Amino acid sequence: MAALTRSNRPMKIIFATHNAHKLTEVNQLLGGKFDVVSLTEIGYKQDIEENGNTFVDNALIKAQTIAKHTDMAVFADDSGLEVTALNGAPGVHTARFAGLPVNHAANNQLLLQKLHGITNRSAHFKTVIALVYSNQVHYFEGSIAGHIALQLTGTDGFGYDPLFIPDGYNKSFAQMTLDEKNKISHRGLAIQKLIAFLNQWNPL
Ligand code: IMP
Repeated sequence: MAALTRSNRPMKIIFATHNAHKLTEVNQLLGGKFDVVSLTEIGYKQDIEENGNTFVDNALIKAQTIAKHTDMAVFADDSGLEVTALNGAPGVHTARFAGLPVNHAANNQLLLQKLHGITNRSAHFKTVIALVYSNQVHYFEGSIAGHIALQLTGTDGFGYDPLFIPDGYNKSFAQMTLDEKNKISHRGLAIQKLIAFLNQWNPL
């Protein structure tokens, strides 16, 4: 049963992102129970500064920045790569590892350079989602363990996908279909937890 507003429409929830791809993915998984809208759709054009020290901080900063302006429920996600031999770096600096503006190719080259000659190449991707509604916060986390390859392989995906080989696989994220990746990825797992929560949530 969908959470319906008084006008019998599915309840609107804001996803504090400008990323249309992430929005489609969440709406598809929710199957119409909630109407998830992006920052672009609500006319919020600015980028929200992510200056927290953890993924939890950044997800909360993004969700709360928007929640201040609305009574609607808002959620935001933050993700990154933590490499064991680099003491958890790049962590919250994952997007801007090689500096700004964000450059995925430069990030991958820097990572290969930093791991040159290092045998422990284990790493994991992590996602935290913060859902803010009526002064309450709920968190949903997903992570996937793997290792950093010696060279780039595959052409799909984005970011560090060509270097990340998940445990139990002998191909990189960039060699997987989006469907295959979403079933096991950090973001896919965190979103599945959010969806499970929303599906039994009736905040009205
Ligand atoms: P965001 O918080 O989802 O924007 O992720 C921050 C950064 O982490 C991205 O700019 C990418 O560099 C990296 N990242 C996050 N998720 C993935 C992924 O699934 N594959 C590759 N890189 C990722």
